[in-house]
Amino acid sequence: MKYSLGLIILIAVTLIIMTAVGLALISGPWTQPLRSAGILPSPQLEVTYIDVGYLGPDQPGVIGDSILLKSSEGKVALIDGGYPNGLALAYLKAHNITHIDLMILTHPHDDHDGGLIDVLKTIPVDLLVTNGQTLNDSSIYVDFEKAVEDSGIQTRIVKSREKIAFGSLSFQVLSPRKIDPDTVNGNSIVMRLADGKVSFLFTGDTQLLEETRLVNSGAPLQSTILKIAHHGADTSSSPDFLMAVAPSVAIYSAGTGNMYEFPHAITLKNLHDLGVPVYGTDLNGTIAVHTDGKTFEVIPERGKSL
Ligand SMILES: [Zn+2]
Repeated sequence: MKYSLGLIILIAVTLIIMTAVGLALISGPWTQPLRSAGILPSPQLEVTYIDVGYLGPDQPGVIGDSILLKSSEGKVALIDGGYPNGLALAYLKAHNITHIDLMILTHPHDDHDGGLIDVLKTIPVDLLVTNGQTLNDSSIYVDFEKAVEDSGIQTRIVKSREKIAFGSLSFQVLSPRKIDPDTVNGNSIVMRLADGKVSFLFTGDTQLLEETRLVNSGAPLQSTILKIAHHGADTSSSPDFLMAVAPSVAIYSAGTGNMYEFPHAITLKNLHDLGVPVYGTDLNGTIAVHTDGKTFEVIPERGKSL
């Protein structure tokens, strides 16, 4: 069969135009009506609670937090990195994260800053946000500070009432008000991120005293997704605090068989009494939450909520 040159050119031009129109529909700012109508998927914020506590089938787990956020515009934030066991970096590499816009250390404990050391040595980071507290009696913290210095990245110290920009969204910092030298966990950065109607509360390892201050001060705690403070320990998550947050879902990070026996039964009971489904990295592995600002979906690596 023979094709005329004119027909071949016509087909080629048609294909190019169709491809261009298709790309324009997906990427343009005029796509909102199409997204609202369900013709195109809505851009999503992805918040992933990485399982940094699982060390292997025959090893006791460790505690530790590491939370990865990807905004709908492709901005990347990392809150804490777990212990220096390489699990956070391995997750980032496996998911092709080659640049981090924002790194936040909630407080300078080994199970939060340790895993950030090899991330800082491997992946370019634009900005590091901390609460300003240092912990020079920890060799892991000293290594973390050295990695920060060696990387030469910009750093910023935040306090309550400040905001941290993240793409078109922003974290609202609720705590600490000021650094109390008698605590490390209690100085954790507590912050809230709202995407439309769906909001996230990040609590670090904050403690009962700070929770009570937040509740009494009328801070905007209500959030759809709660990161349970301090790996589910009974030194956090009072019934009053949980009622003020009124989460739809709560998530903790702790490895199976950790030496602290986190999460504590009383924390789970307090959440159960409020009818809140709970996910944990020990039971569910890495837990992702995707939202378009209207609804959300929890995607655990395995299993169901408690
Ligand atoms: Zn911790």
